[in-house]
Amino acid sequence: MTTLRLAIVGAGPAGIYAADIAKKAERGFDVSIDLFERLPAPYGLVRYGVAPDHPRIKGIIGALREVLDGGAVRLFGNVDFGTDITLEDLQQHYHAVIFATGAIRDAALDIPGIDLPGSYGAADVVSWYDGHPDVPRDWPLDAKEVAVIGNGNVALDVARILVKHVEDLMPTEIPANVEAGLRSSPVTDVHVFGRRGPANVKFTPLELRELGEVRDVDMIVKDEDFDYDDQSRTAIAANKQVMVMDRILQSWRTREVGAASRRLHLHWWARPVEILGDGRVEAIRWERTEPDGLGGARGTGEFREQAVQAVYRAVGYFGSPVPGVPFDEVRGVIPNHEGQVLADDGALLPGVYATGWIKRGPIGLIGHTKSDAMETVEHVLTDAGLWWNPAHPEERSVEELLTSRGVRYTTVEGWHLLDQHELALGEHVGRTRIKVVPRDEMLAASLGDPVA
Ligand SMILES: Cc1cc2nc3c(=O)[nH]c(=O)nc-3n(C[C@H](O)[C@H](O)[C@H](O)COP(=O)(O)OP(=O)(O)OC[C@H]3O[C@@H](n4cnc5c(N)ncnc54)[C@H](O)[C@@H]3O)c2cc1C
Repeated sequence: MTTLRLAIVGAGPAGIYAADIAKKAERGFDVSIDLFERLPAPYGLVRYGVAPDHPRIKGIIGALREVLDGGAVRLFGNVDFGTDITLEDLQQHYHAVIFATGAIRDAALDIPGIDLPGSYGAADVVSWYDGHPDVPRDWPLDAKEVAVIGNGNVALDVARILVKHVEDLMPTEIPANVEAGLRSSPVTDVHVFGRRGPANVKFTPLELRELGEVRDVDMIVKDEDFDYDDQSRTAIAANKQVMVMDRILQSWRTREVGAASRRLHLHWWARPVEILGDGRVEAIRWERTEPDGLGGARGTGEFREQAVQAVYRAVGYFGSPVPGVPFDEVRGVIPNHEGQVLADDGALLPGVYATGWIKRGPIGLIGHTKSDAMETVEHVLTDAGLWWNPAHPEERSVEELLTSRGVRYTTVEGWHLLDQHELALGEHVGRTRIKVVPRDEMLAASLGDPVA
């Protein structure tokens, strides 16, 4: 064999970095890589998760695009693995496949009232404000008081986007339906709940500091939450990030408040136990917790309530099963050893690999997907004895297969057309970019068809 034909499913950062690493690795054979992506546009959560008011992070798309532009990698967008193409198909056309399908749904939070109307998962509202084509266009922003459960950066993103004045989001790429939704929002107070203390948050300093700089929003923290135990003091002294965040939070304790029209309340030692409401969300009930001395929290038996009309749970993402591929239902990942996928009996599944969030679970930043991809690709390249033996390894045979099935796939050139279309929409009204949301409009722009 002179050319390794490699399929990668999922064109988020993990899939694109894997392609880049495979392409540049030292090896004694050529590689030809095809990336399959279910959405018409690539980039995964960089496009559909990273908050629109984080342009520096969104800018990573530029680096990812260079990989797609650089040759040896073809993009087949608008191709859903499991529907448009299957594992059996890939075995006919490739020597190996890497699954990089990420995670898009919310982890569950099992408390009474979680299914009441007005209670949402963070992943759903993120997909809405980031213009994901497969979620409803309208989002019910009718709450004055909102609860966000969680103490990670996604909780901060959701809280910040909900509390910000829409005028301050206009320099971003938010689509028209999101602008209209946020403009009509009556929100005045957003309450963020963490079951542990200020020294145990999973935020990062940059994102926390940014929260305190949002215009016309008071940051409300309570002195009772800062009664640190030894574990908290040690956590602050031992970790520079925690120390910086503690400094930021301490500075908010002494800030003047009262002048802003909106408020962001941070509640710690607060474990939500129930969402209350008669037919829809009316309040959140939580148990006051205290440090257990080991970095965790234990209940105190004291319960409190806060009136809210909407609740967002930002308690983590969860992977989805990939058709025909083993899946760990507990961890929400494809079971693997360093990216080599394992069958139900624990044996290596020849030719099948995983990388990114579907490999190690939905934690970590975009940069982490690069080191992940390195480990996986190293195995792919050295596992020659485990590769499949495809009947149709020629590049054009996959195009023929998709065309014969009536799949209207997009390409890298298609992304350039969509990109130009979005930039032009923005330029038209004095903005940098306006994201296109409807799938048919994304497709039309990508395929060079007239856009309605
Ligand atoms: C709300 C939010 C905000 C974040 N903000 C930041 C941030 O500011 N900075 C930062 O560094 N990190 C941030 N992250 C983390 C970052 O997004 C992840 O680390 C990274 O996107 C994971 O990459 P991935 O490629 O594994 O998964 P994803 O980015 O999810 O990409 C997976 C891709 O696979 C595709 N796919 C799934 N199933 C199929 C299928 N059956 N067929 C074909 N294609 C399929 C999906 O459409 C998607 O494009 C954020 C995450 C979230 C959820």
